[in-house]
Amino acid sequence: MYEVRFHGRGGQGAVMAAQALASAAFQEGGYATAFPFFGAERRGAPVLAFTRIDKKKIYRKTQVQEPDFVVVLDESLIEGVNVVEGLKKGGIVIVNSAKSPGEIDVGMDVKLATVDATSVALEVLKQPATNSAILGAFAKATGLVKIESIEKGIIQIFGDRLGPKVGDLNAKAARTAYDRTVVGESHGHRVLTTAKKWLPDVSEMPIGAASLPMKTEAGLVGPGSFVENKTGSWKVFHPEYDKEKCTMCNFCWFYCPEGCIYRKEDRMEFDMEYCKGCGICANECPADALKMVR
Ligand code: SF4
Ligand code: SF4
Repeated sequence: MYEVRFHGRGGQGAVMAAQALASAAFQEGGYATAFPFFGAERRGAPVLAFTRIDKKKIYRKTQVQEPDFVVVLDESLIEGVNVVEGLKKGGIVIVNSAKSPGEIDVGMDVKLATVDATSVALEVLKQPATNSAILGAFAKATGLVKIESIEKGIIQIFGDRLGPKVGDLNAKAARTAYDRTVVGESHGHRVLTTAKKWLPDVSEMPIGAASLPMKTEAGLVGPGSFVENKTGSWKVFHPEYDKEKCTMCNFCWFYCPEGCIYRKEDRMEFDMEYCKGCGICANECPADALKMVR
């Protein structure tokens, strides 16, 4: 699996870039997911977006903490954000900058590509929207997806949202940026700080942590919501569990929105009083051990 993290500012279109990259990978027959992360911020504040690409179905849903590739839509972010945090060994950084790769210091020695995506955008789109141009640089620097697929992905995502003419122009911006991208080496001298990883892995969570009832001022809170709220009455379908196929990977337990799956020593248990029949557990199960039945 390849994981990509986009660093941008609110309004720069990092989210659409992540989606267009996912669409490009999909055009090549792979699986892909894309999603953003916003804080309580507004236009201009740092934002993140993520794309995952794989030949197999993608089960990982968390933010990308250890990217293979980092894309920086705004060079000024490098001063305040550790954009290479968690970057895998051999990873590549792509930066929107008029500088050469050797002139950029992201705090570590790394393969780095630059393109003046802002100038490309101003020339082709007549506005400083760099999200399509930077994808051309991504294709050139990584070789992970073809530039033709990037163009198709942009036409689909940008065209659907902003009209076919805008889609075509953004594809042209990507192609122009592809031709102008410079790939080189960057040496890091800046001191970097590392933020704490805040999401636990499924194996780090104590058994039952997601589903322990707790007493609060409002009442007894339990699986999903209030203990009194027996969401089991909502369901039309329920999960049927095949213990022989189950590998105890815990994915179903982790993703169940009602917290009504329990991890026992050698099996999973499903509390039908709270199972609302959403089917997420069956969808996430990689071992085909769950199927939804009437
Ligand atoms: S169908 Fe599965 S994921 Fe959905 S509520 Fe029931 S046990 Fe949880
Ligand atoms: S996701 Fe499937 S294999 Fe994993 S614990 Fe649940 S039932 Fe078992």
